[in-house]
Amino acid sequence: MLKLFNSLTNKKEVFKPIDNDLVKMYSCGPTVYSYQHIGNMRAYIFMDTLRRTIKYNGYKIKGVMNVTDVGHLTSDEDSGADKVESAAKKENKTPEEIAKFYSDIFFHDLELLNIDIPEYITPATKYIPQMIEFVRGLEKKGYTYRIEDGIYFDVKKFSKYGQLSNKDLNRPGNARIEENSNKHHAFDFALWKFVPDSHIMKWDSPWGIGCPGWHIECSAMSKDILGDKFDIHTGGIDHKTVHHEDEIAQNDALAGHRVVNTWIHNEFLLVDGGKMSKSLGNVYTLADLKQRGFNPLDFKFFCLNTHYSKKINFTFDGLKASAMGYKKLKANLQEHKVGTEKVDSEKIDDYKQKFLDAINDDLNFPLAIGVLWTMLKTEPKSIVVYKTAMQFDKALGLELEVKEEEPFEEIDIIPQNVKDLADARLLARQSKKWEESDRLREKIAELGFNIKDSKNGYELEKI
Ligand code: AMP
Ligand code: ZN
Repeated sequence: MLKLFNSLTNKKEVFKPIDNDLVKMYSCGPTVYSYQHIGNMRAYIFMDTLRRTIKYNGYKIKGVMNVTDVGHLTSDEDSGADKVESAAKKENKTPEEIAKFYSDIFFHDLELLNIDIPEYITPATKYIPQMIEFVRGLEKKGYTYRIEDGIYFDVKKFSKYGQLSNKDLNRPGNARIEENSNKHHAFDFALWKFVPDSHIMKWDSPWGIGCPGWHIECSAMSKDILGDKFDIHTGGIDHKTVHHEDEIAQNDALAGHRVVNTWIHNEFLLVDGGKMSKSLGNVYTLADLKQRGFNPLDFKFFCLNTHYSKKINFTFDGLKASAMGYKKLKANLQEHKVGTEKVDSEKIDDYKQKFLDAINDDLNFPLAIGVLWTMLKTEPKSIVVYKTAMQFDKALGLELEVKEEEPFEEIDIIPQNVKDLADARLLARQSKKWEESDRLREKIAELGFNIKDSKNGYELEKI
């Protein structure tokens, strides 16, 4: 019996698909104006564990994930510039080039993390007609109004507005109506925004030339593919108060009933105890972790060891401990793979049950990993144990299969001074200072590391 914590009802509930054994699920995806950082990747690792758990329980999945290539402004509300369009101007590329460049890297990262990818990947720019249709539907039902810069959703018309995050229409709190806006209520949000001629991304619509508001894409795409009643919607906790409140308002207002049964939010990954920020220089990507000698699955293992609803504090020491744990796990599996001792099949069944109970208890993966460890450490060395672990890996997605003799080695983490020299060398190369670059290569070699140039800059390995 799978139980999931529903953010909408604030309760752990027994999960039952609407449609027999088919689970319909929507996951908020990336805004492709820049690299997705390791915090973003936690959201997809969470999505992966949920998808795998659903399948482990014998259900099929129809999953959708959007790729936001238009509409997400620099604020999550309705002010600022379009993120993709701004990046295009800054990098002197077209919005399509920007979206493609960052999407490709994103999907490559998902692969490296062995993430089970949703059946439907939907770029927002491919769903503009569906978004327009959706807004027309809301307009016909009287939920919209027009002001000089766009068509807005009138939250006062939707009596349940704020139900997900307990927002009170009479107490807008910090939400303010931006200067020069004639919005009726601070929580009202844009469905369609008029844009100046200089805007690159723009479409014709019944209201005039413009582009969609950010929230409408998820509503229009989920309706198009999953219909107006589906099982699960996921996303990071930052989306709970605005993006998802607004999605619920649009969805339920148009359908006339609750569209999504279960909302699930993953908590944040913090770095050094705080939010990742460019000014602190601590916005890490998967490529950064690789450059420092980590396997992407070390990071996945690191994430799985904390429940998705708890904050994780990322540090390199913590990641190193996880990397060691992951290696030990594999080494242990290797011993079982070649083991010939006898095992008690009842005990193995008991582990299987405990593992299932753990993942079915609102995805308690830390506990499930604990069950795996106990089995590996306490049971006799046997291929039966190994095969049971491989079954568990269908849910864990940690690529635990032992393919060949993998010697257990201490992990060589790239020291900060070597990393600094490698960064300086990259800069030297970018400025075509070849002598300086060679000098730095030698210094790096003196410290015991080999540097190779790569697509993402460089790779370091211990000599
Ligand atoms: P974005 O590209 O900003 O739309 O974010 C993509 C996904 O990552 C969304 O589900 C966010 O809620 C999630 N997310 C963003 N930052 C973090 C973080 N630091 N930790 C966990 N999830 C995050
Ligand atoms: Zn969304």
